[in-house]
This record gives sequence, C-alpha cells and structure tokens, in this order.
Amino acid sequence: MKKTDIAVVGCGALGAGIAYNIAKLGRKPLVFEAKYFGYGSTGRDIGVVRGRHRDPDVAKLASEGLKLHEKLPDELGSNTLFRQDGVLTVALTSEEAEALEKEFKSYASGSFIELSRDEVRSRYPYLRVDDVKLCYLSSREGLVHPLAVLWGYLDAVRRLGGEVVKPAEVISIEPKGDKLNIKTALGEYEASKVVVAAGFRSRELLSKLGIDIPLEPLAKEALVTEPMKPFLDPVIERPGTGLVVAQTMRGEVIGTVGSLGKTSDLTLSSYRFLRDFARQATQLIPAVRSLKVLRQWTWVVDTTPDGKPVIGETSVNRVYVACGMHDYGLSLVPVVSKLIGRLVVEGVEDPMLKPFSPSRFG
Ligand SMILES: Cc1cc2nc3c(=O)[nH]c(=O)nc-3n(C[C@H](O)[C@H](O)[C@H](O)COP(=O)(O)OP(=O)(O)OC[C@H]3O[C@@H](n4cnc5c(N)ncnc54)[C@H](O)[C@@H]3O)c2cc1C
Repeated sequence: MKKTDIAVVGCGALGAGIAYNIAKLGRKPLVFEAKYFGYGSTGRDIGVVRGRHRDPDVAKLASEGLKLHEKLPDELGSNTLFRQDGVLTVALTSEEAEALEKEFKSYASGSFIELSRDEVRSRYPYLRVDDVKLCYLSSREGLVHPLAVLWGYLDAVRRLGGEVVKPAEVISIEPKGDKLNIKTALGEYEASKVVVAAGFRSRELLSKLGIDIPLEPLAKEALVTEPMKPFLDPVIERPGTGLVVAQTMRGEVIGTVGSLGKTSDLTLSSYRFLRDFARQATQLIPAVRSLKVLRQWTWVVDTTPDGKPVIGETSVNRVYVACGMHDYGLSLVPVVSKLIGRLVVEGVEDPMLKPFSPSRFG
C-alpha cells in the first residue's frame, strides 16, 4: 500500500486550491482526480468573480475571496486572466428594483456605486437602458478564467512537491487505526488526513463513512456565442431573472439565465434556456441579436438546504470536506482553500468558517 501524508479528493479549482495551501504550509499533498482536469464545474464555469452575496456569512467569504483573487496571479506566479472590468447589476421591474435596493443596502458602502440611467447610457452606450429601474456597479469584480485558476494552482502544487494523480477515482475512505485507507482506481493508499472536495459527488463518498451531507445536485445551463469585436466591458447581470452576460477576451459572449433546475438528466440542455437567454440578453444588449450560439451546456452544481457551502472537519476524525459551492464557488475558491488548508495542517479554525460546519446538519 502506498503511503501519503494528506490526500485531497477531487481536482477542480477548489481541490487544487486546497492542495496548494496545504503545500504552502510545508506538507506534500496527494490529489486524486477521477477524470481529467476541468471535468467538473470548474471546466463549465462562466468565471464571474463577485465580492458579495445575499447571505451575510457567504458575503464575508466572498469579500475576502475577491481580495485574494486580485493577488492570486502574483502569489502563484501565473496569470489567472482576472479582468476587473466590474459587474453591472440591473433591475428592470419595480419588484426587482425593490429587492436589489434592499440587497445592496446590506453591502459595505464603497464596494459599489449606484448609477443613474443617464450615467449608464453615457458609460455603456451599447446597453438599452429604457427599462432600467435601478443599476449598481461593483467595479472591483469581474471575470476570471476558471481553467487558468485551476492550472495556476496545479503548477504551484507540483513546484512545492505535491502530486496529482488521474484518472484515479476514489472509491472509498475507511479509518484504520490512526490512519485512513483510501481505495482508488489506481490501488490503495494510506493517508493521515483526507479532504473531500469532489463537488456534488462528495455526498456519495462521505455517506460510505456514515457522514450525511444533504447535498442536492441541481442543473445550471450556460452558452457561448461566436466571437465579435470586444465591446462589453463589465459583466452585466439581472438577478431578478438570473441573467448574466459577459464577453470573453476572445470576443465570445458567454452567459446564463434562469434559476438552478431539477431535471431527471442534470446535464441535458434545454430549448427554454436558449429562448430565455436570447430574449433577455437582446432586450438589454441589442448588439448581440445577430450572434450565432456556438455551444450550449449544462452541468451539475452542489447545493445545500440553507444555501451555504459545507466546509470543515466531519464527524469522522481527520476527514474534512469542502463542497456545497452552488453556482458561486469559483469566487470563494482562494479564501476557502486558504482557510481549510490552515485547518487541516495547523488545526486552526478561522471564525469565518463556523457557519459552514458540516455538523450543522446533525
Ligand atoms: C454552468 C456553471 C457556471 C458557473 N459559473 C460560476 C461563476 O460565474 N462564478 C462562480 O463563482 N462560480 C460559478 N460556478 C460554480 C463553480 O464552477 C464551482 O463552484 C467552482 O469551480 C468550484 O468547483 P469544485 O472544485 O468544488 O468542483 P468541480 O470543479 O466539480 O471539481 C470536483 C472534481 O472532483 C472530481 N471527483 C468527483 N468524485 C471524485 C472521486 N470519487 N474521486 C476523485 N475525484 C472525484 C470530479 O471529476 C471533479 O473534477 C458555475 C458552475 C457551473 C456548472
């Protein structure tokens, strides 16, 4: 049996970030990835980084996550392609405006500004502002390349002496004395500690240890168009309908709309999504009307009943978890991976992690 120090299950952005923070603290993590790098949510992500969230506990993490995203390229020595062109949040109905005003009142002043319709028109002439009732600009937020974040962490893990193996699905984890036995597709390993960061599949793996994390997998749809000359600086979002539209550096328009869905096939793309996106995106940004959609996809996000992630040590000693990242997990990756790295290596639990304890589900 191969022996290792600390094992991480899952190599999405979060698992890679956790391995990096463990390695940074002087340990040599071994990461198991079942498929390929970017197979999970991280490879299907649209890359919006926000420093805020409706839930006050998640908002604290998001605010810290944004600061760390800003420093990540320097820290990793690798460009994550983070473009801080801002996120423009709009309300198009009175109900949306009321909800948005209430939400933004709870955020730290200085993290956003309110723009009048005339200001929006003069700053962003490509936006159709006739229906805009309220608009906020969070100028430090923006768009990152999810795979650049993942690769940045991976390179740093290897430089620091950590290792990543794939394809190496973890089949089970079993306590044996003061160690943990990890059965994988590549054979058996023994570790002193294990962190499970396997997205929606974390539940299944942990349930074999008698740990029940009530994760519900829900579908999230997205699409990308053919490229056009870069024109869209900030990310445009309309929380009232879940619309998010952004332009990548290559000029493609990328986006999503609607709420997370329950379907029998969580990877099935729908005509309804395509239609809703086309209607809503062209209502706000008429210039995207003639663009051809190149690709549409759907992936599974790991959600929890209280809308918060699950981060911390489980009821089984030395088994930790980081999952339940919903559709906002990429924004949190740098902070969650840093805090869980400290918890696993040094046993220090940051007070920010308290609301996310796995024990809250009983
Ligand atoms: C369409 C879409 C759009 C999104 N947009 C945004 C956005 O704009 N902003 C934002 O902040 N977040 C967004 N998210 C969420 C974000 O992608 C994730 O929360 C974030 O990337 C963290 O993912 P992760 O590492 O937890 O999970 P994943 O990227 O899913 O990684 C988990 C990995 O674990 C592996 N694995 C699973 N089981 C096992 C096993 N038994 N053994 C070994 N390996 C295993 C999987 O193969 C996978 O690679 C979006 C998600 C989707 C689906």
